[in-house]
Amino acid sequence: MPRKKTIDKLIEVAVMAAIRHPLTYRVPEGMDVRPGHRVMVPLGARQSRGIALEPRTRLAPGVRVREISRVLDPQPLLSPELLTLGLWIAEYYLAPVGEVFRAMLPLKPEISRMRVVTLTEAGRKKLDELASSLLEEARSNEEVRLLRHVAGTGAAKMVSYESARRKFSASPQVIASALKDGLLTIKTIAREGKQRETFAVRLVGGPVPSPAEQRLSPMARRILEALDQLGPAEDHRALLKSARGDLAALKKLEQAGLVQLGQPQPGGAQIPVAAGSVAAEPKLPNLTAAQAAVMADLKASLEMGKFEVVLLQGITASGKTEIYLRLIAECLERGRDALMLVPEIALTPGVQAQFIERFGHRVALLHSGLGARERHDAWWRASLGEAKVVLGTRSAVFAPLANLGLVIVDEEHDPSYKQQEAPRYHGRDAAVVRARLAQALAVLGSATPSLESAHNARTGKYRIRTLEERIGGRPLAQVEIVDMRQEFRETLTQVPISRRLKEEIELQLRTGAQTMILLNRRGYSWFVLCRSCGQTQRCVNCSISLTYHRREHQMVCHYCGFTAKVLARCPACDSEHLHYVGEGTEKLEDKFVELFPGARVTRLDRDVARRQGQFAKTLSDFRAGKIDILVGTQLIAKGHDFPGVTLVGVVSVDAGLSMPDFRAAERTFQLLTQAAGRAGRGDMPGRVLVQTFYPEHYAVRMAAEQNYEVFFTKEMRFRRLMHYPPWTALANIIARHKDLERAAGVARHIKNYFDSLETSAQGLKVLGPSPAPLARIEGRYRIQCLIKANSRAKLNEVLHRLVDYCEQRGVAARDLMIDMDPVNLM
Ligand code: ADP
Ligand code: ZN
Ligand code: ZN
Repeated sequence: MPRKKTIDKLIEVAVMAAIRHPLTYRVPEGMDVRPGHRVMVPLGARQSRGIALEPRTRLAPGVRVREISRVLDPQPLLSPELLTLGLWIAEYYLAPVGEVFRAMLPLKPEISRMRVVTLTEAGRKKLDELASSLLEEARSNEEVRLLRHVAGTGAAKMVSYESARRKFSASPQVIASALKDGLLTIKTIAREGKQRETFAVRLVGGPVPSPAEQRLSPMARRILEALDQLGPAEDHRALLKSARGDLAALKKLEQAGLVQLGQPQPGGAQIPVAAGSVAAEPKLPNLTAAQAAVMADLKASLEMGKFEVVLLQGITASGKTEIYLRLIAECLERGRDALMLVPEIALTPGVQAQFIERFGHRVALLHSGLGARERHDAWWRASLGEAKVVLGTRSAVFAPLANLGLVIVDEEHDPSYKQQEAPRYHGRDAAVVRARLAQALAVLGSATPSLESAHNARTGKYRIRTLEERIGGRPLAQVEIVDMRQEFRETLTQVPISRRLKEEIELQLRTGAQTMILLNRRGYSWFVLCRSCGQTQRCVNCSISLTYHRREHQMVCHYCGFTAKVLARCPACDSEHLHYVGEGTEKLEDKFVELFPGARVTRLDRDVARRQGQFAKTLSDFRAGKIDILVGTQLIAKGHDFPGVTLVGVVSVDAGLSMPDFRAAERTFQLLTQAAGRAGRGDMPGRVLVQTFYPEHYAVRMAAEQNYEVFFTKEMRFRRLMHYPPWTALANIIARHKDLERAAGVARHIKNYFDSLETSAQGLKVLGPSPAPLARIEGRYRIQCLIKANSRAKLNEVLHRLVDYCEQRGVAARDLMIDMDPVNLM
């Protein structure tokens, strides 16, 4: 074949598939593809989406390149800044580049809402009655026909309200009265449709009919005429409807070059705020002297318009949020956009309301709780410049704000910022990189900064500002440690609630004050143990015991969600002596109801929060004083502002302390400090009781004293001794497979690779391979290798070569998991 001249335009594409590197494609003559455009490209036998990256000038000889099929959007969707951020994530976290961009862009399945009618209990009874009636008249009346119609279709197919109305159009009142009598109900459900695309359509070419145009079908002519008369169409379906055309005809016109199809530019989607709820001039409190000093400092940084990271270490209730809000307002005033990240579970209605009150329609929310449509709308509002402030969780770090001047990461120490699936990026660290790319100010806020950030502040990489007093001069809560060993010696029974805690709660109830009880374990009991043979009921997929959930009456795996029946007898030995060991939040809730009759007790954990609206309702009930005792997991410990709480009881921190993770102490310290931070935020001072079997542990003691400095110094010493972060860079490598032998095979490759390196000369330390603490998850065996390095760059280089090495030896990508800067070593 004669070689083509070198005028080929080539471009790199991050294909949205599990491919590590970008692929090169040819740009067809006349196609406008720029970096950041979404494109369709051929990949094997199918078409795949991708993101266009940089143009390429040359190819290695002999490489065949295929052509880009289509450009999906009129404008590039991702800015150079976001492209660079995506490429950095792919590189640093060793993630397939297309997966990174997939995570960056909002998904957009078509969602339609449908109103369905269903039979109520009463309706079913009525139907049975009427159907068995002996009177012919009753059996054939309209009502019974309707009920039968709704019931008869079964679960597989739902009857929409509209179709029922059509079917009974002769007697519309029969539906209305069945609804009124409570025989039927209407529900609105979201139905995810097929991923139908919407195209914007416009005419191409001049007024003179081209030869192609003269051979057109009547339908094609109608489409062209409609376009000519009505102008470009935003939605091809509307166009086709008015022209009585179909998609095939439209596609033919596109191929003939007579029309151009593109992605519509949505807009106008509004944040769901009632018009009256945006105050024209929200009343702002006067800043305290300490707040004002920090504010002046940060404002000066903002004015510089340069990249900088400031760690804002402020104790709980010191008024950090007020500073964030004012700083965002300042940023907007300077014509730049602002982004604020909060941990997954801290994005409460309260925080959202504050943002909407201050910034109204200029706010867009981006978090995991949104439906695809809402996420899509929020993304576009930011992209089109309608929204200037984005408030969101981890993935909001990718918000398409054009002119970012400020990035805030609240509760920067929170482990939920780390994504636990590929791409395994850390939202806080990605936020700092993004701020650098945008030349923006980054503010990392926390009462208990991560050791990494505190270390960066000590070494001068970050600047630090502190807030050392609570608003209104309120004292920090008094923390008392209850030694559960002593409790056992004195009472000779092991109970979850000590006499001391019980006494304190009684006092609370007598004075009408509110109490929060923290236990970081959901479910009823931890596991079920057979007293006769010692067996526990385990997950079939994971190497852990199932947790008993009493409300659902099920055994549940907290890792993979597997559920099993609750057994009355041991499956191994048939004994009836099954013992429910340990307590979870469900059991505590029962316990409090039993111990304090008349008290209003409510539970809040992930099981409750899953029920729609329940999370928000419980929080607002608690705030309104309608609950005396709120029992919950860490979900209740973080960030909330409940002025009525004066006692926080921590039932146990021991499970957290004994985790096989070098961050166990740090996590415990943070959790206890956060929990203590919930008490005494109102006018009354707060108290905290911490029950533990390890009262001497420094994490517990320093949290009780709320002494971050001493904790930090001690913990840093331990980390240095053990060569753990922040002193070293760490990566967790896991070989995994459903078949243990195959997992071991992958682990051998990993070992061989490291054996081939002069690891110690290169400043590397390799631990393992050995079975991971969770030796099996979701049916896959897991063998772990930890690698520590003096230099991040070195570690990154070695890891990339490890992936190449394994790839060359036929290891499938999914069997090798690499987690850079892991926050979870399980
Ligand atoms: P943090 O985020 O540091 O835990 P918050 O920002 O939630 O603290 O502030 C604690 C409480 O103090 C909130 O109820 C907040 O509205 C209030 N607050 C903050 N700043 C001021 C101020 N300058 N004057 C009066 N109240 C304030
Ligand atoms: Zn048994
Ligand atoms: Zn499981």
